[in-house]
Amino acid sequence: MWEPEFLYEPLPIPDDHPELGLFSQELQSISEGLSGTSIPAALNERTGRESEAAFHPRVADEPLPARMLNEYVYCPRLFYYEHVDGVFLESADTERGSAIHKKVDKGRGDLPPPKAAQRGSKESQPAAVAAVALAPDTTPGKEPQPADIADADAAQEDMAADGSPKLETIHSRSATLGSERLGVLAKMDLIEVQMVTVAQDRSSWVPVTSFKDAQREASPSVTAPMPSPPSPPDDSPPLDTQSGTMCNLTKRTSKKSRPAADQPDLFAAAITPPPAAGTAIDAPCLPAPVAPTARLLHVELKQRVVHQVTPVDYKLGAPRRGEDGNEMWEADKMQLGLQILILRDNGYTCDEGVIYYRATKQRVPLAMTDELEGWIIGKIAEARQVAASRSIPPPLMNSPKCVRCSLAPVCLPDETRLLKRVTAPLLPDSPDRSADKRLSTMPPPRRLMAPRDDERALYLNTQGARVTLRGEVVVVKEQDSVLGEFRLKDLSHVALFGNIQITTQTVQMLCEAEIPVAYFSMGGWFYGLTRGHGLKNVYTRIEQFQSAQDPHRCLALAQRFIHGKIRNHRTQLMRNHVNLPDGVSLKMKRAAGDVLAARSLGELLGMEGAAAAMYFQNFAGMIKVGADDDELPGLEPVKKADRPDFTFDFTKRARRPPTDPVNALLSLAYSLLAKDCTLAALAVGFDPYIGFFHQPRHGRPALALDLMEEFRPLIAESAVLTALNNRMINPGHFVRAGEAVNLTVHGRKAFFQAYEQRMSSLVTHPIFDYKASYRRVLELQARMLARYLTSEIPEYVPMMTR
Ligand code: SF4
Repeated sequence: MWEPEFLYEPLPIPDDHPELGLFSQELQSISEGLSGTSIPAALNERTGRESEAAFHPRVADEPLPARMLNEYVYCPRLFYYEHVDGVFLESADTERGSAIHKKVDKGRGDLPPPKAAQRGSKESQPAAVAAVALAPDTTPGKEPQPADIADADAAQEDMAADGSPKLETIHSRSATLGSERLGVLAKMDLIEVQMVTVAQDRSSWVPVTSFKDAQREASPSVTAPMPSPPSPPDDSPPLDTQSGTMCNLTKRTSKKSRPAADQPDLFAAAITPPPAAGTAIDAPCLPAPVAPTARLLHVELKQRVVHQVTPVDYKLGAPRRGEDGNEMWEADKMQLGLQILILRDNGYTCDEGVIYYRATKQRVPLAMTDELEGWIIGKIAEARQVAASRSIPPPLMNSPKCVRCSLAPVCLPDETRLLKRVTAPLLPDSPDRSADKRLSTMPPPRRLMAPRDDERALYLNTQGARVTLRGEVVVVKEQDSVLGEFRLKDLSHVALFGNIQITTQTVQMLCEAEIPVAYFSMGGWFYGLTRGHGLKNVYTRIEQFQSAQDPHRCLALAQRFIHGKIRNHRTQLMRNHVNLPDGVSLKMKRAAGDVLAARSLGELLGMEGAAAAMYFQNFAGMIKVGADDDELPGLEPVKKADRPDFTFDFTKRARRPPTDPVNALLSLAYSLLAKDCTLAALAVGFDPYIGFFHQPRHGRPALALDLMEEFRPLIAESAVLTALNNRMINPGHFVRAGEAVNLTVHGRKAFFQAYEQRMSSLVTHPIFDYKASYRRVLELQARMLARYLTSEIPEYVPMMTR
């Protein structure tokens, strides 16, 4: 039998491992589901909408963080993205908020246990104080020392003027507490804790060798008044006049060796009944004789206990202007109310909480009422239902909340709402134009994101280079010289071409920062990529797998991808061809319309091939540069004699291998676009290998290839034409290797610039009517595809420029 081999000794899994029950339960149900049925069928069964909560028991049962419930009240869709999908994006607001909370969290203060838990608990011991009364000294000629009287005065200061115990406030920071009743966890910024000193209900006489001993035994701080020395009570144990100790004194172990439960219990001696006359005392119980100067002290134990707690939460903004002046926002009410309830459930007395609004420097209090508690419990139940559901809640309608929401670029609230209301096809060749009319009556979506990313792709092309890490900076070296340094926060992804080494530490850090690393051959073949865990949510992927098994859905999606591509090819020719032959535009328009009526994927493939052939027959008409225009600024001019005999003539598409410079450029451009479409698919939560038009094949990112269809002319072929026509590329940038033609290192570098320029250039979105970079639009289309697959919108509309 095959045995697994371990390169290390596997650690035993403890029986009480929290995941163990879950795994065994999941594995058992999966194996039961698989017996006698196919994997998708078992998956479908398990994902049936009636058993939604059962499908994802962890999300449904695990404690909800109070911060997530705050998000739920702000917007249920935001809660779903953050809690279920695990999506989080930084914005200026979130970064400022984190900075403030870092400040608030600085300097920790432990939260003392509640009153009920303090008696006898280990934690309560340091709070115990002793009021020590000096008994009449049995040593002849001894008087109380001045130091003893000073200690007693200090104790007197802790009383209020009317003799009642004084309240003292301490602060606890960053305390995390949970409530089993509510199933909620909360990290509290600050808790104001009012402490009060109370007398314990027992007091007695114990012998100590000095006053200081008595204090040390109890607490370093004496907070109770010093009463006048009392007489020993009548029932006090008989004094051994020889040693000055009580006869019934039980053994006194040192503080260090004593078990926690026995921690200094000064009463132990006093409450033990004295031995009957003539009873033999066990030798080990006998105390060591104390010095003759020992005195008998009356010790009254007191404790500092928690009186009342008040959670204080810090918020960056300002309170809401309400009828009664400044009011708390609903989401803040939820978060603070939860903190109050959690503190109560942990045994503290807590009647109100406070939010400190930093913008206006105001404290706004919140009192707990039955009504508020009911509202909070209702919201928790609602949030649990949403978390267990497979459907994301709809976006808010034209809400000002979206403007400040950091997840607006992921959520796309206005775009989703707009496409949701358009139930007829938006395709230009569709006979039904009602959708266009309806669209024109709707307000255009707000662009709630920056038009382009601040982050940049890092392409590394220098053979033998090494990528290392210094702090949060990626350092690229060639032998001992540094080629460049790049801050992690400035990078969108890293693309490595050929023999470039990257250290494990760098890969780990890039994965943690969710910056993918893409690997290419020197010739530009896209091998794959490494990235972090990505999205937690599997529902989009499940919908993708289910749709990929449905031939009708596959065909409907494939028609749209190819329709978009042919329309964009036509626009490209009409815009850039120097002299487009008659009839080509019309034929391409017809071809785009015909694909919408294709009856099978096979038929569609044939139509797509015919349209592509027509496009590439006319591609040469868009190249407006001759092979003589070959000088590139900044590069050594290539001598005529050394220059290979390359031209930019183009007759047909040749892929494996590319046999001329234009085909070499097109192949590299498609590789880069496949990489970007794979990244966009992964960012949305798709599996890039399961496609609809491109059928699954080993190692082929089929979905990325589907997504790139409509973008081939818009990005890849446009970048090639720009690089050629703007003379960014010249014949000196190519080398021949047998039949194949490849770009040189300088040629690749020049083309990367042309490609990235195209990705960053702004385009007006034909439906949403705002400007965004092609990189943004690519991600936007991937998100719209996810909306279509999860039935949030009725149609997938390809990106088509006018
Ligand atoms: S953008 Fe608006 S709808 Fe979307 S998650 Fe944020 S607040 Fe909710």
